[in-house]
Amino acid sequence: MSKKIKEIVIISGKGGTGKTTVSSSFAYLSKGNAVLVDADVDGSNLNIIADGESVKSEQFYAGHQAKIDPVLCTSCSICENSCHYKAITHNDQGVFTVSPALCEGCKLCVMLCPSGAIDWNERLVGEIQQLDTRFGPLISSHLYPPGENSGKLVTEVRKWGRELAIKMDKELIIVDGPPGIGCPTIAAMTSSDALVFVVEASVSSLHDMKRIRKVAETFSIPSYVCINKSDINSEVTEEIISYIHESNMNFLGTIVYDEEIGRALGQRKSVSEDSYGGKAREELLSIFNTLIQAI
Ligand code: SF4
Ligand code: SF4
Repeated sequence: MSKKIKEIVIISGKGGTGKTTVSSSFAYLSKGNAVLVDADVDGSNLNIIADGESVKSEQFYAGHQAKIDPVLCTSCSICENSCHYKAITHNDQGVFTVSPALCEGCKLCVMLCPSGAIDWNERLVGEIQQLDTRFGPLISSHLYPPGENSGKLVTEVRKWGRELAIKMDKELIIVDGPPGIGCPTIAAMTSSDALVFVVEASVSSLHDMKRIRKVAETFSIPSYVCINKSDINSEVTEEIISYIHESNMNFLGTIVYDEEIGRALGQRKSVSEDSYGGKAREELLSIFNTLIQAI
């Protein structure tokens, strides 16, 4: 029988709360025993610190989009007048084109075109990569503009992560999730084994955490919290700890504010590495160990 793989997803109510500080440290502390997944598809940056080399990459397609063949098009305007999303326009020469950013892939124009001039192509959404990094194997991705179908891309990078964990006989997957509470975050949380919320000691960050917690609650996934920059507002830190207990979440610990953290990340090092000598290193080690023992 195969071993149960545990998948931890690190999330935050919005960007800039210290999610990268936590995820890069967890990646380092996993000592090559985990598959790492960067599911922050709009701003993947784990590899900047993990410093890996690509060993496999594939383009990812999801949904469709229309494209007009100018040779077959007779400039009848039917498509332009029918598109609810105003995705089709024409120029002074009567050349009709589809805006990829506006096309929702509803297929109406394809069905209405009397000349069969509109192609119905799969939409190229982004690229997925497997990398060998100094922290272990990493699955990362790049979302192409206009950033459509990012939830599907998140689902796909997690699938790659799970398949690699099975293949490499790893028992742990660490997912750096997208910030916010949108579709990509929901795609990152679904069916995971543990959620790690990174919250900052500020009223707005607590508010954001409550919003995402409401969404997460519906999945009944064990939830853990670490408080970043806990010493910048001890009153809010106490309020966050009370909320954690009231809402049946699990408190992992605090991380102090330290300007050197930004400097370490700027030098492409995780806070858990020797080059960073501040208190946050022990705090993150304790947070990681507490989490691993709990899941
Ligand atoms: S409906 Fe077809 S033929 Fe008419 S303008 Fe559009 S693409 Fe051209
Ligand atoms: S597929 Fe739909 S949204 Fe896209 S151009 Fe055609 S009618 Fe407009």
